[in-house]
Amino acid sequence: MNGEELHALAKRLFPICRSITGPGVRETLSILQEDLPLTIHSVATGTQVLDWEVPLEWTPRSAWIEDLSGRRIIDFATNNLHLLQYSGNFSGRVSREELANHLFSLPDQPDAIPYKTSYYQKQWGFCVSKNQKKSLSQAEYNVQIDTSLDTGQLNYGELVIAGRDKNEILLSTHICHPSLANDNLSGIVVAHALARQLLQNPLQHTVRILFIPGTIGAITWLALNREHLPKIKHGLVLTGLGAGDTFHYKKTRSGNASIDFFVEHYLRKSGIPHCILPFSPYGYDERQFNSPGINLPMGCFTRATYASYPEYHTSRDNLEFIQPQLLEESALLILRMLQQFSSSETYVNLAPEGEPQLGRRNLYAADSQQNLAILWVLNQSDGHHSLLDISIRSGIALPDLETAADRLCSSGLLRKT
Ligand code: ZN
Repeated sequence: MNGEELHALAKRLFPICRSITGPGVRETLSILQEDLPLTIHSVATGTQVLDWEVPLEWTPRSAWIEDLSGRRIIDFATNNLHLLQYSGNFSGRVSREELANHLFSLPDQPDAIPYKTSYYQKQWGFCVSKNQKKSLSQAEYNVQIDTSLDTGQLNYGELVIAGRDKNEILLSTHICHPSLANDNLSGIVVAHALARQLLQNPLQHTVRILFIPGTIGAITWLALNREHLPKIKHGLVLTGLGAGDTFHYKKTRSGNASIDFFVEHYLRKSGIPHCILPFSPYGYDERQFNSPGINLPMGCFTRATYASYPEYHTSRDNLEFIQPQLLEESALLILRMLQQFSSSETYVNLAPEGEPQLGRRNLYAADSQQNLAILWVLNQSDGHHSLLDISIRSGIALPDLETAADRLCSSGLLRKT
């Protein structure tokens, strides 16, 4: 949980050209595997996954633009953002006008190279800064792009850290961006640090951590892991954790999941600058986990949010943009939240239709606070909300709810999940 160590890992991973498939993802996962017993899964190109298909595997080798004197102006070897992700091959001499049709730049950030992908539309292209584009003043240029798009695999990493019970917390982070630090190396290094800590000190709940390519990786995992879904009671998508002063928590689809109550409560109680956002079906992989047929209670925990800052998806999201102390603070905060969140028991009301008759069971107390604790525990114990959630929602102290739960268990009206 040392910020300098987290930043050092980000620095090691930074130069690798990751994409949704290919050698960059495998190299990244094998580096993470040095410290973690990570399982690296391979899913073959063409595998049907929900409404999608695992794509061809992309391997970038070299890409450059030279003037006719042989001076190299743009080179993938100096910055992997220069190559459009999933760019096809090209070799030849082109006019400046023709070349311009294959260049992507940002009109409002003259020195920044954009990050652009074309996973599902076949084309070749370069991403360049506006100033680089302006400097292309000659009539013709030599262009070479050497990539391959072949039958191969989609890879992802998975780690299950057994807790004292089988209920699971799912943590997910994407691993598909090339040299970009906050989005997405910060999520990778924070998830890696959390995994190392949780392996040493497991939680009450089992924790499953996914390092997956964005969108297609989450869809692939969901398609192949149907049997695991009922065990997942809570989850967080982790990303954008190395820059920005304010934490952001985006709620789950229902907006009233246990994790929603808890994270909001924890941040408020800790006095940490934060902002709670409602669910929307746009953003990171919480979109897939919260799709209506899957409906996992997965929130998204970030500092800087999706597409909200000028450095986002540009060469300015670099190793200087992410701060060691912010990475450390993010990792520690998430660890403390998970420890507290996981420690509270969850129960099921065994007589949930109407209120059970309390008097007959000697559960009706003269003290109205005790009665209220019993009624809250009965009403909220649906197997998904813990006593901690009920405490947050009702304002009743946790020990009073624990006493109520013990009495209800003894009378056969409640059982632990
Ligand atoms: Zn991104």
